[in-house]
Amino acid sequence: MASVTGPTQTKPVISEPPTRANLTATDSLPSEISPAFLHQIPIESDSATQASNVATQANEDSIARRLVILGTVLFPLAGLIAAIFIASQYGMVRWLDIVMLVGGWYLTGMGITIGYHRMLTHRSFETVTPVRAFWTAMGAFAVEGSPIDWCMVHRKHHQFSDHEGDPHSPHLHDGGIVNQLKGFWHSHTGWLFNSNWSKLERKKYVPDLLEDKMLVAIDDHYVTWVTASLLIPAAIGGAAALLTPDFSLTSIAAGAGLGLLWGGLARVCVSHHITWSINSICHIFGSQDYKSSDDSRNNIFFGFLSHGEGWHNNHHAFPTSARHGLKWWQFDLSWVVIRTLERMGLAWNVKLPSQKQLDSRALD
Ligand SMILES: [Zn+2]
Ligand SMILES: [Zn+2]
Repeated sequence: MASVTGPTQTKPVISEPPTRANLTATDSLPSEISPAFLHQIPIESDSATQASNVATQANEDSIARRLVILGTVLFPLAGLIAAIFIASQYGMVRWLDIVMLVGGWYLTGMGITIGYHRMLTHRSFETVTPVRAFWTAMGAFAVEGSPIDWCMVHRKHHQFSDHEGDPHSPHLHDGGIVNQLKGFWHSHTGWLFNSNWSKLERKKYVPDLLEDKMLVAIDDHYVTWVTASLLIPAAIGGAAALLTPDFSLTSIAAGAGLGLLWGGLARVCVSHHITWSINSICHIFGSQDYKSSDDSRNNIFFGFLSHGEGWHNNHHAFPTSARHGLKWWQFDLSWVVIRTLERMGLAWNVKLPSQKQLDSRALD
């Protein structure tokens, strides 16, 4: 069983407020860090390059792109509402559907927290290729964007956190209740439609990930992963109906539909809003235990609900730490899994803050 007691690993992590440099650095103090990719940032001073960037940005904010985002946001929500309606009105829901909803949410949710976030974005630990591929694929199943784009946006979030340039801060609107609500909407979902990031920034923020052939292969087939994410639960739901004694084409179709609704769309909707709540709620509501250069908060509700990501102030204070729930009572399921992998010999270079680093940034 993995330990969830105090951080005892000796591998030091960064204790300075996050900068582009210390988001992924492996084992040096901030002043010593000079990741190779920092020297590969293209110089964008000439007007032709700037014009190209503007054109690309405009392209990425095109109507077609926004419609795809709108569908990605609304279809899962519609699926959740339809699933609840059908269950309440017609009693059509099986234990299998609930298992696919909850099990799928945990698996794909940890694909985001363990895979996309801690393993890829912050390089909090290293692991064998099959485990790396597994958690990346689980993250792709969550339908929150391709792994490389997700990591690019998240590194940008840490670089500018709650300052101009942050893709999804709730704090960049003027005062007043209306603007605060606008800020909340922007940080939760609106930023997806008005992205202030571009695929051009891939080379700037994630050059290390672009060199990973396995990762690029998963990234290139993102649409296939999304399709599979919906079809697999539909297929399981239909197959389960096929196993009943009085099955018919209608019952198989209904089983597949329920699988699609509960294990596909409703599960994606739950994962979406829990992840987005880290961007919105966990930058507004909760406590701050450590100095960070932003308004990130530790939120106990989302600490438990989001597999450990709700200990968000801890995370912004120590971005490369594989463990976000730094106190014994701050349950962090993703850390339990990573620690278990480490004890099995499947994870190494697992980064945690030293006691000295914790003390130096503590606010109480
Ligand atoms: Zn944050
Ligand atoms: Zn992060």
